[in-house]
Amino acid sequence: MQNINDYMPVVGHSVINELYLLAERVQPRAVHNVNSTAVGGGVAEILTRMVPLLRQLGLNAKWDVIKGNDKFFNITKSIHNALHGADVRISKEDWEYFLEVNRENAAEMDLSGDIMFVHDPQPIALIEQRTRRDGTKWIWRCHIDVTNPQKDVMDFLRTYVEKYDSAVFSAPAFGQEMGIAQVLISPSIDPLSDKNKELSQKAVDAVLERFGIDKERRLVTQISRFDYLKDPVGVIRVYQKVKKHIDCQLVLAGGGATDDPEGLQVLEEAKSAAAGDPDVHIIFLPAGSDIEVNALQRASTVVLQKSLKEGFGLTVAEALWKAKPVIASAVGGIPLQIKHKYSGILTYSIEGTAHYLKQLLHEPGYAKALGLNGREHIKNNFLITRHIRDYLLLFLSLYYEQDVVSL
Ligand code: UDP
Repeated sequence: MQNINDYMPVVGHSVINELYLLAERVQPRAVHNVNSTAVGGGVAEILTRMVPLLRQLGLNAKWDVIKGNDKFFNITKSIHNALHGADVRISKEDWEYFLEVNRENAAEMDLSGDIMFVHDPQPIALIEQRTRRDGTKWIWRCHIDVTNPQKDVMDFLRTYVEKYDSAVFSAPAFGQEMGIAQVLISPSIDPLSDKNKELSQKAVDAVLERFGIDKERRLVTQISRFDYLKDPVGVIRVYQKVKKHIDCQLVLAGGGATDDPEGLQVLEEAKSAAAGDPDVHIIFLPAGSDIEVNALQRASTVVLQKSLKEGFGLTVAEALWKAKPVIASAVGGIPLQIKHKYSGILTYSIEGTAHYLKQLLHEPGYAKALGLNGREHIKNNFLITRHIRDYLLLFLSLYYEQDVVSL
């Protein structure tokens, strides 16, 4: 496991010293995270790296994952899709089942952390068990793109969100009308994780060889869970347009998440859209394929993230950190990371993405400059140390009012 002091050479001594200083002031100290999957997707990625670092800073941080069966995760995936604006209906019975599973989890879980830090909608109703007398503070952390949520679903969830002390969103556009404090905290990547650390060319080549990718030819990559909202078929259409003009290979690599039941269907649709083209590599990555993700990103000539909705898009930050030119949709949290034509390219359509992909493949000098600017932007804004600082300040703010009153 990483030591917090290992980050000093990356971000400087003062940043780490400040983290110690802030952490010392967070009293009481038990921070209990709860989400719905231990592997797959950005939330699990962040918690895996963040929880041990918070512990090193002296907090009693822990992380639990709620349990659910297929029926529950089908319902929560529908809720997830509805929050992203999809026209799906959650029936009364589905909501009841959703609440029942939350109650079952609450019954088995120790909810006595000083701060309960609940991530995303799946475990949101754990808050029902809150008893004001115990003094526990509750934070709801929304990682998803809620720019245009389906009203009914948002209204239902809002009745639970408003029982929390504070809600955290990833981008300004996601703020909601609700009667509690809302905080903007962007996610982050860990520069020292296996997914982002430096890799030797030999290690990169070994991964390419294992997947049968030609290291001598241009490589365009999208790494994402196989999810409609990541638009893998759209990525293949982009590639097919570009391939008519310029030779390249495409990698679509991703796994699933235990709370996402749609993955296999999306994977099959991608395979059929690729129509057996040997230059399209559709790779199903098992959980924990961090070195593979790292190597594929590093081997890429251009990285795509053609999401239709995106809470933040850690994959964009990961690629930019590796100084890769990234073309990504101008949705959700992605514009926080990419300033168009400066630290990457923002697009709105298959045609637009294909246009810029051709340009970047033709103009490696320009592509390189975009990647270098992108790396600097990630370094300044989206590394895990900044994220920890924001969380520590949030924890402190939960008690601030109380302190002022008692002075
Ligand atoms: N990821 C991974 N393996 C995969 C697909 C994705 O490790 O097969 C990682 C990816 O590198 C990133 C995270 O999962 O760290 C995805 O986060 P992002 O915010 O991009 O999207 P989400 O999946 O949370 O919607």
